Amino acid sequence: MLVDSHCHLEFPDFAGELDDLITRAAGAGVGAMLTIGTRLAKALQPLDIANNYDNIFTTIGTHPHNAGEEQNVTVQDIIELTRPKKVVGIGESGLDYYYDNSPRDIQKQVFRTHIEAARETGLPLVIHTRDADEDMARILSEEMAKGAFGGVLHCFSSGQALADKALELGLYLSFSGILTFKTADKIRQVAKNAPQNKILVETDAPYLAPVPKRGKRNEPAFVAHTASVLAEVRAVSYDTICALTSANFFTLFNRAKMPEEAV
Ligand SMILES: [Zn+2]
Ligand SMILES: [Zn+2]
Repeated sequence: MLVDSHCHLEFPDFAGELDDLITRAAGAGVGAMLTIGTRLAKALQPLDIANNYDNIFTTIGTHPHNAGEEQNVTVQDIIELTRPKKVVGIGESGLDYYYDNSPRDIQKQVFRTHIEAARETGLPLVIHTRDADEDMARILSEEMAKGAFGGVLHCFSSGQALADKALELGLYLSFSGILTFKTADKIRQVAKNAPQNKILVETDAPYLAPVPKRGKRNEPAFVAHTASVLAEVRAVSYDTICALTSANFFTLFNRAKMPEEAV
């Protein structure tokens, strides 16, 4: 079984198609999905989807693009929203200096608030980071020194130094369709060398479809293409990568229980 550890199923791109999309995912061996929150104000949308399907889980958080809109969010606001059982993590939150859709100091402040909520709840943090390696490494180190929290750098597209820092701090790395892109040698190098108990796969659907679907709308079934490249890069079998990344997912997101294990 494979797990798509990061997708956005409530986006309008998938409206009216969820049943078909989940059937196609199952056909590709994708047994579970984590649909990610991007705005606390709209946290109920992904939660509704998670509540409708046994094998879909969700997170709640403020994406750095939306940090400006939700700059007054408190740790308590976040913690309140994590009560439903299907909420298994916090995020996505972080820094995006590529688009700079929100002012950088507000992105940092909102990110630190999410870290504190992750620390207090013990729920893992889904971290978005783009073109912000130095600030990200510094904030993660400073915050980890205040008290431990778990999490994953999703859609890993940063440099080796940030990968090393994240791994040193006990965080996971999740690889998206970018891993399959011709120009992504540096990311494949990071994926090759990361410890086997720290790697996840994801689509980030509807974005970033992997080769051979590049340029099309992405969907959870396509995570199989990324897993296949990850297996090649690490010189292990496809089945090994599936087993490994799924086990890692359920270790990190330990509140996510598949129906057969649900008590
Ligand atoms: Zn992201
Ligand atoms: Zn995302």
